Amino acid sequence: MAKISREDFTCVAATNASAYRHVTVPVLKIDAGPGPAVALLAGVHGDEWEGQAAILQLWQLLPGILQRGTVYLLPAANAEASLAGTRLSPSDDGNLNRAFLGAPVRGYTESVAAALQARLLPRIQAMVDVHSGGASLRYLPSSVITRYGDDALDARLPALARAFGLPQCVFFRGTESGSLPAAASRLGVLRLSAEIGGGRETSLALVQRCRDGLLGCLAELGLLPAAPPRQASASPSLHDLHPSVATLRARERGVFVPAVELGQTVIAGQHIGQLIEPARPDQPVRDLASPQAGTVVCLRAIARSDDGDCLLQVAPALPLDSLASLY
Ligand SMILES: [Zn+2]
Repeated sequence: MAKISREDFTCVAATNASAYRHVTVPVLKIDAGPGPAVALLAGVHGDEWEGQAAILQLWQLLPGILQRGTVYLLPAANAEASLAGTRLSPSDDGNLNRAFLGAPVRGYTESVAAALQARLLPRIQAMVDVHSGGASLRYLPSSVITRYGDDALDARLPALARAFGLPQCVFFRGTESGSLPAAASRLGVLRLSAEIGGGRETSLALVQRCRDGLLGCLAELGLLPAAPPRQASASPSLHDLHPSVATLRARERGVFVPAVELGQTVIAGQHIGQLIEPARPDQPVRDLASPQAGTVVCLRAIARSDDGDCLLQVAPALPLDSLASLY
């Protein structure tokens, strides 16, 4: 039977209404003896629910089934933002996924990042960090591979993405040194992320796919005997979202009326929707065209949009085995 212990930590999160306020980040350590140490995290952005709900399910399930190694579960890594249902930390507007910047620590968000960097990352060999589109975006369920320089662990990422079992895998070239995956990479931690759902809502079906994907990753890493039974899925298609041509942004204010759906295949220049301004009926409708051919992987979930907002991400489906060619 695995040994269970709480490894919660507390950070100061002062506000105008509460000078010495504390926020506690819950952490469960499940120790099943020799083997790798792995962290499963969600809620780095507080309004991204699928991973948070899935890891809360594992909080109950995993102590009874973990075969070897150690798992740290963090269902709400940014607990303050999760409690508020916001992407950023309410007390300092910090983005936890940009806060791994080292000393000096300024405010709550960087305190959480510093605690994760000091207390968690040195104790693990691998982590899976689950995100979603949050309030403003919706994603096709996708694992996420981000590259940070010449990382010797990257060769293991396609197998981990397959083990997650989602039909898409998104690729980014990591340009943010302050992100959690970047910090993990600097400390030699194998790391996979995911983008699952979004749009200020969630569903049990998405939560269970996420939970089963996390169990699949633990099996791939050798902590469970086998992945749970589920539909046999083909190797995920790979979508390179790093080039600027993969993202369509609004260039003015308007109400976004998409004419495409998530998962739809489009050609370059295809009409994908309009930006309209109902309160200014004399203003011309702005027709929007897909910046390139591919699969619609991400769509804005809030109709009212502003200059610079991401409206859509689209990229061709490549074989996962072509990942090395993107490096
Ligand atoms: Zn996120």
